[in-house]
Amino acid sequence: MPKIAFIGTGGTIASIGSGPFDLLDYNASNARVNARAILDRTGLAETIGDIVPIDFRTFDSSAVSHTDWSELADLCWELAQDTSLTGIVIGHGTATLEETAWLLSLVLDLNVPVILTGAMRPLSGLSSDAGANLAAAIHVADAAYRGRNCGVFVVLNNEIHAPRTVTKAHTLRLNAFKSPWEGPIGTVDGLAVRFTRQELHRRPLSFGRGLLRKLPRVDIAYSYVGADGCAIKAFVNAGARGVVSAGFGPGMGTPAETKALAEAIEAGVIVVQSSRTGAGKVVDSAGHRDLGIIAGNDLSPQKARIVLALCLARGDTRDEIGRAFQSI
Ligand code: ASP
Repeated sequence: MPKIAFIGTGGTIASIGSGPFDLLDYNASNARVNARAILDRTGLAETIGDIVPIDFRTFDSSAVSHTDWSELADLCWELAQDTSLTGIVIGHGTATLEETAWLLSLVLDLNVPVILTGAMRPLSGLSSDAGANLAAAIHVADAAYRGRNCGVFVVLNNEIHAPRTVTKAHTLRLNAFKSPWEGPIGTVDGLAVRFTRQELHRRPLSFGRGLLRKLPRVDIAYSYVGADGCAIKAFVNAGARGVVSAGFGPGMGTPAETKALAEAIEAGVIVVQSSRTGAGKVVDSAGHRDLGIIAGNDLSPQKARIVLALCLARGDTRDEIGRAFQSI
């Protein structure tokens, strides 16, 4: 019989608004319930076997810190030591869900699948997607375990996404989670779970969980017309060991930003170039190499930031970090 741990971390999937029609401003009540209460309210405790509620946090996911990541990864590892466990489902706020999923996919190598899910409408709301998403995540955990497919997956709105590609692409809609240009790696309709793109399940890179206890400061500088590099200089002054440039389309900032990045590199900061476009690869071009900038491949700025921070925590050299990004 499946035995699945359900870790509650808060988020909209755990949120209680002022009433059934409070679908937008429910954060004002700041009321979120624990894993057991989510199972009780959704009636999912015995959906598909033994669902074990595990309390972790009840916060808004905008508050997730590096320490929370470290403790969550350790918790997953500890839970997976129970050989009777067949899967882990994490209820997470959708604001930073894609970052936590990507992070966990880089540091966990477990014998059970880890599924992150959330909701776009609060648990207490009329037509909330909390129960449906949680049920789908539980079914995917079971199917993935039976298929020996023990990676990290994101499940919302009947779709299974890879942590690498998935992003929250709408502030409010139920189908907010997308993998732009790539699409989902599977679907779930009731009990019917279908993985359609197996090749994305492999781990692109792997890092030790212990690195999460010493992640250095890495910031993201967002490009826009007229950006003068002030933010980049401020990040360096604040002690950033790395800066990810969320640049224009192909992967570049304004001339003033490029100058500020060159100065940062001169000062020993590692710079990774990504793009603000939301999809597509930043090419490892001669121009980037001449400047000492590492091309961020097809990772979004927030996911490139995680890889850079992990590489720096591991003590990688600039060349090693460049190779890591090209090998993803
Ligand atoms: N405010 C929420 C969060 O914790 C948003 C959500 O979960 O949809 O990220």
